[in-house]
Amino acid sequence: MEREILQQLPKVELHCHLDGSLSQKLLQKLAQQEGLPQALVKEAVVPENCESLADYLRCFDVVLPLLQTAENLTLAAIDVIEQAASENICYLEIRFAPELHREKGLSLAEVITAVAAGVKQGEALFDIHVNLLICGMRHHEAAVNQAVFQAAADSAKEKVVGVDFAGDEANYPPAEFGIFLAFAKQHNLQITLHAGECGCPRNVVESIQLGAKRIGHGVAIKDDLAAQNFCREQQVLIELCPTSNLQTKAVASIADYPFRQFFDSGLLCSINTDNRGVSQTNLTQEYQFLVEHFALTQAEMQQLNLQALTHSFADEAVKKELAEKITQGYQV
Ligand SMILES: [Zn+2]
Repeated sequence: MEREILQQLPKVELHCHLDGSLSQKLLQKLAQQEGLPQALVKEAVVPENCESLADYLRCFDVVLPLLQTAENLTLAAIDVIEQAASENICYLEIRFAPELHREKGLSLAEVITAVAAGVKQGEALFDIHVNLLICGMRHHEAAVNQAVFQAAADSAKEKVVGVDFAGDEANYPPAEFGIFLAFAKQHNLQITLHAGECGCPRNVVESIQLGAKRIGHGVAIKDDLAAQNFCREQQVLIELCPTSNLQTKAVASIADYPFRQFFDSGLLCSINTDNRGVSQTNLTQEYQFLVEHFALTQAEMQQLNLQALTHSFADEAVKKELAEKITQGYQV
């Protein structure tokens, strides 16, 4: 499949971080506006010699100071939606950690409202449906995460459909977050969790036992057949992010990337960018990677996008509408 065709085919993306997905154009504009040097913007992109998740996460130190006002958060959401719409993503879930955007005094509710305002504007401007996921951060204090999840529950009308925990997986296993996930379930928030990004298949299993319907990354289960069986039994979808996983060394090499292993064995998976800006990628490029290295076919791409839609946190009416759109889009 040629890149142009890949770009035009309708797609669904479920794992996309707001702060990591800003375009260079918006980063430059915000840096100028905040009086920060333009050279800094280059540091918001993953270095070629990236050796670890820690190296990768350093890029966010550059971006976050630019996302501390309601206006900038709204612009950021519109910017990510514009990028997604330009490659015919018809359904997108954007995730962000509200607590990271409070350095200039915004409340959690104000952060969420500002991002949601960008989503509403983006949906009005482009042919796309967008929902939001609220991330707790694993290393934050329990009281902070409690407040974040409360704010998520209070924002159900603000496009917030689910929650996630991001951050340091190695030092903070999923069990510590059970109390917040129980709270989320009580408030009808759906759960996806970053797990199995850093060589710990047990975290994937525990996350599912705590109520996760989807797993972010999950590549650590590639050598753990029992964990894979559990995912299949539970009908949990793995949100794969190939470029990001290779950059952070979650997977050592392209040959080790478990796409074929997962997909061909009936594990539910979807393809995602994780961080468009930091990783310098887009969803078309992620599919191109699979075509080039794993001989992905158009029929398989359709299947990946339909199962992403089925396991998305969109409401049933949106799922029905977009399933038809996707099926039609792949008929040509
Ligand atoms: Zn992620």
